[in-house]
Amino acid sequence: MNELVISNLSKTYSNGVQALKNVSLTIPRGMFGLLGPNGAGKSSLMRTIATLQEADSGSIRLNTIDVLRQKEDVRKILGYLPQEFGVYPKISAETMLDHIATLKGIRNSNERKEVVEALLQKVNLYQFRKKNLGTFSGGMKQRFGIAQALIGNPKLIIVDEPTAGLDPAERNRFHNLLSEIGLNTIVILSTHIVEDVTNLCSSMAIICMGEVVAQGNPNTLVASV
Ligand code: ADP
Ligand code: ADP
Repeated sequence: MNELVISNLSKTYSNGVQALKNVSLTIPRGMFGLLGPNGAGKSSLMRTIATLQEADSGSIRLNTIDVLRQKEDVRKILGYLPQEFGVYPKISAETMLDHIATLKGIRNSNERKEVVEALLQKVNLYQFRKKNLGTFSGGMKQRFGIAQALIGNPKLIIVDEPTAGLDPAERNRFHNLLSEIGLNTIVILSTHIVEDVTNLCSSMAIICMGEVVAQGNPNTLVASV
């Protein structure tokens, strides 16, 4: 079983903005779309699930893990691709992934080499493995971000507004990659683009002003709004 259950999650920032209002969602294995306009609360929800910020109330369970309390356990099985992520421009793709694999606890250097090479192949960057990250295009950086997020075989992958700034071909490639990953992992795709959700996701929720206003199957749900 692989399932994320969010119950009555609320968050008000210190400036008084209520970003999440009693959010409840059950997210199964596969590609899940979180659709909502800018400012809806998507990033707040993603950061909370990724254990990067606290909620005021409510709970999140990932399989048997209490996400808001067992942060270290969550981090071991989570891959997070934030909306904006910087890369070190003067480090090669291969070296960077090797560092991250070390941080994720893969101590044996031969094992790391195998993991890194397999991931570079998976995201179609193997031929660019020796290139510095500063030379990568937007699409290449996104695919590198996915490789980074996949180290350690996560059970849950969060991608926040992933295709902003990608050209159509790059977007397609990125989408195909996500679909493949979604076959045996929970993938949450946070976006304001309706087509991304209808094309890719098997279930979805719509979030607006911090509230989940609908959840279900993308085709029936989007047709009804
Ligand atoms: P908290 O309630 O989590 O303590 P803060 O108001 O202290 O939140 O802000 C945390 C961080 O988020 C700060 O670095 C702040 O600059 C940034 N931040 C503040 N307002 C916004 C906003 N409207 N959107 C995005 N980030 C913001
Ligand atoms: P989305 O990802 O859907 O654009 P966010 O979660 O970033 O939405 O923002 C939801 C609301 O919370 C917005 O009104 C935003 O300005 C506010 N907000 C986000 N982060 C912070 C923060 N750290 N401090 C204060 N307000 C924030």
